[in-house]
Order: sequence, then structure tokens, then C-alpha cells
Amino acid sequence: MPSEDCVFCRIAQGELPATVVHEDDRAMAFEDLNPQAPEHILVIPRRHTTSVASLEEEDRELAGHLVLVAARVARERGLDSSGYRVVANVGEEGGQTVPHLHLHVLGGRSMTWPPG
Ligand code: 5GP
Ligand code: ZN
Repeated sequence: MPSEDCVFCRIAQGELPATVVHEDDRAMAFEDLNPQAPEHILVIPRRHTTSVASLEEEDRELAGHLVLVAARVARERGLDSSGYRVVANVGEEGGQTVPHLHLHVLGGRSMTWPPG
């Protein structure tokens, strides 16, 4: 998918606004537009890749970095002691609506299991 057609590529390139809470050379984290919990942050790679399913062996370091950014953002937002959830939806039945890999960091309320 060309980056001009991808909403998260456009956020990563600064072409669309977002409330950014973390930025580095490989990743970005910003508040979800339609939060499903008091804290709802999305962690994305700057480079376009569709989902967890499109990750390749060479993305091992990037994948680990995204998880560490998710944990860091959760810590910074005071979610460590209460707990939180990190979710990656994949594809249609996984409930993915934006085809640019992202980790949801959800917290600030009790989560239910199993997810819907
Ligand atoms: P998915 O359904 O793909 O797992 O998650 C996509 C998430 O992106 C949704 O929670 C949705 O609210 C969020 N989202 C969609 N478009 C935008 C946008 O333009 N800006 C921000 N900040 N979040 C978005
Ligand atoms: Zn993209």
C-alpha cells in the first residue's frame, strides 16, 4: 500500500495530526482517536508493514522494539501497578480496521476476557 493511502503512514510522516506520546527513529505512539479505555495508545512502526502477519525474520528487532515502546508508554502513563492490555488485531476476523501494524495499549479500567 502506498504511504499516501495509509492513515498511519501519514501520521508517521507528520501529514496528519495526532496526539503523540512517544517518537523515535523506528516507532511512534499516539492516542487513539476513538478510545476504548481511559488510556488507549497506539504504537506503530514508522515503516509501513500491514500487521503482525507481515513481519519477517529481519523485523525481529523492530517487533521487540514496538513491545518495549508499548511497555514504556504504559509505565509513563502510570499503568504499571494496575495492569493494562497490549493487543494486536490481525486481519478481518482479528478485527483489524487500519492495515498498518499497531499495538493497542489499553488501561485505566478492568479488562474482560475473552475479548469480543
Ligand atoms: P484496529 O481496528 O485496526 O485494530 O485499530 C485501529 C485503531 O485506529 C482504532 O482503535 C481507531 O480508533 C484508530 N484510528 C483510526 N484512524 C485513526 C486516526 O486517524 N487517528 C488516530 N489517532 N487513531 C485512529
Ligand atoms: Zn502505513
